[in-house]
Amino acid sequence: MVTEPPWYVMNAGVYLSEQPMARPSDIIVIGAGIVGCAVAEELSRRGASVEIVDERSVGMGATQASAGVLAPYLEAREDGPFLDLTVRSLALFDQFVERVSAESGVPVSYRRTGTLDVATTDAEMRVAVIRALGAVGGPEAHAAIPGLIAAVADPDARVQQAAAEVLGEFGTVARDAVPSLRRALQTGAPKVQKAAGEALLNIMRPGK
Ligand SMILES: Cc1cc2nc3c(=O)[nH]c(=O)nc-3n(C[C@H](O)[C@H](O)[C@H](O)COP(=O)(O)OP(=O)(O)OC[C@H]3O[C@@H](n4cnc5c(N)ncnc54)[C@H](O)[C@@H]3O)c2cc1C
Repeated sequence: MVTEPPWYVMNAGVYLSEQPMARPSDIIVIGAGIVGCAVAEELSRRGASVEIVDERSVGMGATQASAGVLAPYLEAREDGPFLDLTVRSLALFDQFVERVSAESGVPVSYRRTGTLDVATTDAEMRVAVIRALGAVGGPEAHAAIPGLIAAVADPDARVQQAAAEVLGEFGTVARDAVPSLRRALQTGAPKVQKAAGEALLNIMRPGK
């Protein structure tokens, strides 16, 4: 028997639960896409009674169209909060998929294959190499600091910016880059100036 849903569920659309509610939900999640379902699952795991409402069936919004590709470095081309968010999210994904599959008994097709970032110009190639050095990090990448310092004066502003950002990520070990970064801070394009300024802060005042 399907009972009459409460007013707020009727107003929001289809009542997803076919079971009469034992008690009023603590939380109503509007939207049964990947985001709504993930939020509801997490809240429920933490002990809340959660109800999801949607005018469509589960996953029939943008979620059904997704190609299922999780590629932070292709989505967020520049360092910043968006890249940080996507990288941190991806780092949580293996564990999330494992848990959801185990709890639901439904296998999730998921493989880590890496991504191919195709450079179509020499400058894009230089940016890709610099970003790869940043991702590798550690002493092996630090050996390339002289090349990165030269790249801060590259004719292409995107290369200058990438080099400044990676030198900043390296921190104090990149102190030889300070004069080049100071020049970039004074004469570079706005994005280069911002990257150079942040890099100088990281190199000269680590932890700030
Ligand atoms: C063609 C395409 C390819 C994509 N490929 C990728 C990819 O490879 N990798 C990737 O990470 N992302 C990809 N995306 C993006 C990804 O699909 C979306 O970011 C994600 O599915 C959004 O999930 P969501 O739950 O926020 O939205 P949705 O899945 O759209 O869910 C929102 C739900 O809310 C419901 N809703 C809205 N308003 C109301 C209301 N007032 N009352 C009740 N219900 C309501 C809708 O019916 C819908 O079901 C792609 C998107 C598209 C379109």
